[in-house]
Amino acid sequence: MSGIDNLPPLRDVIATHGLNARKSLGQNFLLDLNLTAKIARQAGDLTRADVLEIGPGPGGLTRGLLASGARKVLAIEKDSRCIPALEEIAAAYPGRLQVIEGDALEVDPLAHLTPPIRVVANLPYNVGTELLVRWLNPPDWPPFWQSLTLMFQREVADRIVAQPGSKAYGRLAVLAQWRAEARIVMSLPPGAFTPPPKVSSAVVHLTALPEPRYPADPGVLSRVVAAAFNQRRKMLRAALKGLAPDIEDRLNAAGIAPTDRAEQVPLERFCALARELAG
Ligand code: SAM
Repeated sequence: MSGIDNLPPLRDVIATHGLNARKSLGQNFLLDLNLTAKIARQAGDLTRADVLEIGPGPGGLTRGLLASGARKVLAIEKDSRCIPALEEIAAAYPGRLQVIEGDALEVDPLAHLTPPIRVVANLPYNVGTELLVRWLNPPDWPPFWQSLTLMFQREVADRIVAQPGSKAYGRLAVLAQWRAEARIVMSLPPGAFTPPPKVSSAVVHLTALPEPRYPADPGVLSRVVAAAFNQRRKMLRAALKGLAPDIEDRLNAAGIAPTDRAEQVPLERFCALARELAG
């Protein structure tokens, strides 16, 4: 018995199923079920939502989600060694946990989920940013998800919520804050994980906005922001000169000084510049 359910403690699960952590799969497990239940609570009311979890591993967060009342959890795990342990959880919560063995970058989860859908995950560090960018950049908006509650390395979390004028401000901040409300809701030291990673972690909660915060074409905005931050120390009239022959006029029209650097430009002005360039 573990406190939040009648299943065995995670240390026993790991020993029984031989789940020694593999670095290549980004395996840093959370074994404290009170902590995983706390992370699950950051996702909001799960009782009327389906939850997509990427990388359940031995199932600590999965158990937190189910104990918090999630209507259904769809868990996608690449490591076949974890599947029997996850099936034991599925048996304890009949009809509420579906486990898919596969690579989250390749599996399409939508056929198995009913809206509203919330995504909650302690992401493998090697695919975390790529998954986030995909979730923020769907073909249509609003996206399939209502919220994302995701564990990242602290440095990535800081980049998602960064404001203009800070070193962490860049493409990820613009992309995330354009179409979502993003905030850091928990900080975790390395010792919270087994084995402990080298760096601290943080949980970011993103809520999808019904519409992007300011109008802009996603493709144009993405090109502008990529060009601006690829040469973040250059003045924008130089960094963006490949985008339009009259870039200084376009920058002025968007309310941006041509001598500014990308780091100083707020989201609203990037969107104005994307509209100028699209027009
Ligand atoms: N959720 C568990 C926890 O909190 O203890 C494990 C988190 S661990 C940081 C990341 C998990 O993602 C591991 O179980 C790993 O096997 C899995 N994983 C790694 N790459 C994956 C991928 N491409 N698709 C699905 N799962 C993956």
